[in-house]
Amino acid sequence: MNFLITGAAGFLGSNLANYLVREGHQVRGLDDLSTGDPQALSAEVLFTRGDVNDRPKLWTLLQDVDCVYHLAARVAVPESVLYPREYNAVNVGGTVSLMEAMRDVGVRRVVFISSGAVYGDQAEQPLNENARPYPHSPYAVSKLAAEYYVRTIGDLWGIETVSLRVFNAYGPGQHLPPSHPPVIPNFLRQAIRGGSLVMHGDGSQTRDYVFVDDVVNTMIAAATAPSIDNLVVNIGSGRETSINELVQLVMEVTGTKTEVISNRKNDPGVSRMCADLTLARQVLGYKPHFTLAEGLRLTIERDPRFQTPPPDQSTESS
Ligand code: NAD
Repeated sequence: MNFLITGAAGFLGSNLANYLVREGHQVRGLDDLSTGDPQALSAEVLFTRGDVNDRPKLWTLLQDVDCVYHLAARVAVPESVLYPREYNAVNVGGTVSLMEAMRDVGVRRVVFISSGAVYGDQAEQPLNENARPYPHSPYAVSKLAAEYYVRTIGDLWGIETVSLRVFNAYGPGQHLPPSHPPVIPNFLRQAIRGGSLVMHGDGSQTRDYVFVDDVVNTMIAAATAPSIDNLVVNIGSGRETSINELVQLVMEVTGTKTEVISNRKNDPGVSRMCADLTLARQVLGYKPHFTLAEGLRLTIERDPRFQTPPPDQSTESS
């Protein structure tokens, strides 16, 4: 098949693109490289640097495409609190630009990568797709608004659409920005380098961590699954893990005993997150394959940033 992936040079986009070309598909990738790294893409991916709001570029890239994966987005929740306008322009505006261009060119299907963040704090867990979203950040609002645009424009113009609400994805190649890095690569890096782990709140808050290969499998299934038009589907591991448990697991898989600093003043975010996977099982045949411990081990194994540094030669010889 012919695919276009927006946000192709990012963490999820590059893992997806590389998998698809290995399977023999034609893959075009678009990314403005604001955070993405084109080196993460294998040579078979036809990469174009550009903005997801650039419709003439989209018209060209969409020719003969069977399915679009839309991942281009600004993704840092705290940053979205500071710059909501930018998050709206890229995450919502970019989605509308893409849907318009798909309508103009006549593309059949789009798989939109949304987020479990749209649910916000909910008393009832695991989170079912029918729960009323209660977004807590401009980022979460932008993903929810984009979901509505995808579904509405798709409906009006006969484009098949599905939104995958991905929970906390992790794995090799995840972006590690200097401020507000995602918790898993940050903890792994700190533990391996002998730094301390800083956790927000008392560590009892839970998240649903899902390994990137499981996410890629569902994205692949979503390109061809029948009867998914108009759906919103949760993608997680279906397991709830507290930060305290994550800390223990990180120490176990890295073989380290690391100092933990609890910053109780910092907002730990929503208190619980766990995905109900009933719908994903029904419509995508999804069954997560990786436990958190397995996923953490694979992340360390496959990502050179987490390989233990060789002993310092200069100190050894002196
Ligand atoms: P990422 O930051 O690695 O990837 C996003 C990519 O989009 C980056 O490569 C960036 O350069 C690109 N981009 C940003 N603005 C752009 C623009 N204007 N035009 C073109 N490209 C642009 O993040 P990721 O974790 O790979 O996330 C990919 C998608 O999955 C995002 O839509 C995100 O909201 C969604 N998602 C991710 C997770 C997760 O845990 N990683 C969870 C839920 C949803």
